Amino acid sequence: MLVLGAGLAGLSAARDLVAAGTDAVVLEARGRVGGRVEQLRFDDGRPVQLGGEVVGEVHTAYLQLVDELGLTLEPSYVLVPGDTTYDLFEGVARGDDYPFRTGAERADYERVERLWAGLVGTVDPDDPWSHPDASRLDRASIGAWLRSVDALPSTIRRLDVAALALADGSIERTSFLAELRKAAAVGDRTFYSYELWESMQVAEGSAEVAERMAAELGDRVRLEAEVTRVDVAAAGCRVRLASGEEVRAEAIMCALPVGVAARVEINGVDADRLLSLRRQRHAVAAKVVAIYGRSVWEDVGANGLSEGEHLLGSTWPQRDGVLSALVPPERFGYLLALTESDRDDAVRDELGRIYGPAAREPSAIHHRLWGIDPYTRGYVTQWWPGDVLRVGPLHGTHAPPFYVCGSDQWVAGYLEGAVRTGRAAASAALGARAG
Ligand SMILES: Cc1cc2nc3c(=O)[nH]c(=O)nc-3n(C[C@H](O)[C@H](O)[C@H](O)COP(=O)(O)OP(=O)(O)OC[C@H]3O[C@@H](n4cnc5c(N)ncnc54)[C@H](O)[C@@H]3O)c2cc1C
Repeated sequence: MLVLGAGLAGLSAARDLVAAGTDAVVLEARGRVGGRVEQLRFDDGRPVQLGGEVVGEVHTAYLQLVDELGLTLEPSYVLVPGDTTYDLFEGVARGDDYPFRTGAERADYERVERLWAGLVGTVDPDDPWSHPDASRLDRASIGAWLRSVDALPSTIRRLDVAALALADGSIERTSFLAELRKAAAVGDRTFYSYELWESMQVAEGSAEVAERMAAELGDRVRLEAEVTRVDVAAAGCRVRLASGEEVRAEAIMCALPVGVAARVEINGVDADRLLSLRRQRHAVAAKVVAIYGRSVWEDVGANGLSEGEHLLGSTWPQRDGVLSALVPPERFGYLLALTESDRDDAVRDELGRIYGPAAREPSAIHHRLWGIDPYTRGYVTQWWPGDVLRVGPLHGTHAPPFYVCGSDQWVAGYLEGAVRTGRAAASAALGARAG
């Protein structure tokens, strides 16, 4: 079996295949494993995450893998004391909740959230296409739904600020059905529960999960092996690498991000299935990490969590003195248009405004422009209105000997999606062999 891509999906699939006695080789384009989990070590040894970081209690496949690998879970920023900061156009506000101006505005938000909770239960996350109203719910953006239930402008704005904090696209460019499906997948009845989705992290650093699996797989992982063409046939499959080398195997496990898979030549796979794979798209976003000697945001009573309407969609403390931030797709172009030094200045100005003068002076800033990374071409899946039906029920399914996995094949991405689909795809391939 040839596994394409050494992200968490490809590695967890390969690990299970090898454990079951299958001959699996992982082909990875980069000179490192991990894909969208990537880690640096600061001079003093602190691990710094430039990609995926946090998980929640509902992320059972990921938590199980972390346990198997002997890694340690610790609470994430969700439990850090202090006030959250809202960096809004009219000024900076701090508190334990979004600064609605009136009780009526807050009551409207709560009313709309109750309506939302009622709808989440009507969607089967494994089969959203079977919803009697699937087409209408998919064509509608979250914003359109909010207007249809007479949400106040303050409710709509609050939800857009929250959506851009997660950096997977504005509520005006997100399918309502996709968002209901995502909430249904983890039993979330709020618009987004940070406790459910983000309360834990791997103490050794999330990239360590990939490193440990790669260490187990040893020379079965081939780095700098960029796949350019895949030929699938029951009699045998062939993979062409950028170097011109051809590698053969009985079956293929495609664990590539969808933006990349759409650009690799794939032959011998049913046209509808390929179209489904290629129609999925990513949010094009960036992560910024600022490193300080201490947690400077505490100087102003802040917990390091912010949601903002300027350049940064959100910030959160990664660990002592390390602040993560996301730049959502709507603002990514602005970041790209700046020179590298102007990018640093823009981030310094913003952090200074949000957290006070000491936050203006990090000892280092890392800009990780995932949206233009050639081996990722984005951040996580973004479901535009209409995309759930365009991608259709072939989403995340296999056509043996062509198997598909990757975080994009689960509701909206995430570390959980990578591990869950990777292990499920390995199990499907092993089942097909046994049968
Ligand atoms: C900035 C950022 C923050 C995030 N934060 C979180 C978070 O806090 N919590 C969470 O749950 N999720 C988070 N995510 C999402 C999560 O990191 C990803 O969904 C997950 O790591 C993806 O794993 P994957 O294996 O599906 O894909 P990837 O990690 O993208 O792996 C795909 C692999 O394929 C390789 N590849 C690409 N092209 C080729 C080719 N042509 N030939 C061979 N190999 C190729 C890539 O180099 C890569 O190694 C975040 C993602 C980003 C970018």
